Amino acid sequence: MGEIMFDDIPVSVGPMNEGERVRSPDMYVELAGPKSYGFELVKVVENAEDKVEVVGKDLDEMEEKGRYPFAIIVKVSGSNLEEDLEGVLERRVHEFINYIEGVMHLNQRDQIWIRVNKDSFNKGLRLKHIGYVIQRLFKAEFPFIEKCDVILITDAEKVKEELEKAREIYKKRDEKTKSIRDEDVDVFYGCVMCQSFAPTHVCIITPDRPALCGGINYLDARAAAKIDPNGPIFEVPKGELIDEKLGIYSGVNEVVREKSQGAIEEVSLHSALVNPCTSCGCFEAVVFYIPEVDGFGVVHRGFKGETPVGIPFSSLAGQCSGGKQVPGFLGVSIAYMMSPKFLQGDEGWERIVWLPKELKERVKEAIPKNLYDKIATEENVSNTDELIKFLKEKEHPCIKRIEVTETKVEEQEVTEISETEETEENKEVESIGIPTMTLPGTFAGLPPGIKIVLYNAVIKAEKIVITKEDFNKKKNK
Ligand code: SF4
Repeated sequence: MGEIMFDDIPVSVGPMNEGERVRSPDMYVELAGPKSYGFELVKVVENAEDKVEVVGKDLDEMEEKGRYPFAIIVKVSGSNLEEDLEGVLERRVHEFINYIEGVMHLNQRDQIWIRVNKDSFNKGLRLKHIGYVIQRLFKAEFPFIEKCDVILITDAEKVKEELEKAREIYKKRDEKTKSIRDEDVDVFYGCVMCQSFAPTHVCIITPDRPALCGGINYLDARAAAKIDPNGPIFEVPKGELIDEKLGIYSGVNEVVREKSQGAIEEVSLHSALVNPCTSCGCFEAVVFYIPEVDGFGVVHRGFKGETPVGIPFSSLAGQCSGGKQVPGFLGVSIAYMMSPKFLQGDEGWERIVWLPKELKERVKEAIPKNLYDKIATEENVSNTDELIKFLKEKEHPCIKRIEVTETKVEEQEVTEISETEETEENKEVESIGIPTMTLPGTFAGLPPGIKIVLYNAVIKAEKIVITKEDFNKKKNK
């Protein structure tokens, strides 16, 4: 789709505007986002009327630099439309809004975050124009949509009221795939919608692994591939099962290799350590490895504080977004955390040591009962020392593993000191060690292309100082 100019829209509209960021100094207003609330929802209905409606203040009635609650409700009608398409159509709202000059849309569902810049506002852009663009692009892209209503809400009370209803609908959608497992189907689905900003990213969507954006589950993907076989969502034949626990399939590897232009060779569907899937940037949560305890923390997008490793969601997200495959870091959806296959290649919930309280509550029913109290939150610990203490007190399985490793290492040292011969037991010590973790090239501000590999290491440092060595000086010494 090239540039699309609508005579009655005061700014340009088209893919050339995708990827445009609206930074704080250029911002006219912010809608929804982390400091407010809102959502977007597409519903298939029988009687859409082709209307665009704004409920509440339009942009010219808002204060400059203000933050406002915001909802986008799109109702579509058409004889071939099925409810299963709602999730996939909803995901396109992100793309269509980003086509509008000076408007930035991030995330999905009840996590949306929109900014309008001053230039576009000054050119005359108003919410009703955004509504018309959404309506026209839906009808242009999907000819089976016969009528389309777009309702944009800025009235705070109304947004709040509709948000609760939308959350119920998201929950019902996610529950639909709960009874299907990866082994029950012959094909998975792939999505490359996010390649516009993460060119090597390929989402693999399976019954047990809903897309990391949280917006597309297995049934949504199946409906989308059926109705638009040449679109961004496509079938992925499973091929041969290479490793059941990690979730490695020959068919998935072939597709990932091809769609990532050869950048990614192999992916495990259910591991954050061994060839994890790539992450784009839309994920609802990040799984991150904590070497001190040989376990994982998971932090969701809405969590504002710092994780026990001393950094917030945004910095962790930066480590693995952009289509990179980074062992130890993995973008996931909350729905994937509810799957019985969640990180099964890394021992699943037995390796989860920290969650924000809110997230822990959301996924409570998926956490094995014997582990629930052993997982720390921000209320229990604020750094890794406190985390270790907490896990020891609670006898978390991760700490038991570490203690086994430490005991064996001590035994090995004693044996070496007494100059006895190496025993089979000592060999076992080496094999128990903490797994290898390759840090991303951009870690600690290093330039891309540099890889740090830590083998069986537990490293603790209060400060890392990286200085550039002057080779000329060194030579002249
Ligand atoms: S995160 Fe994945 S499934 Fe969701 S839109 Fe992007 S590529 Fe598609």
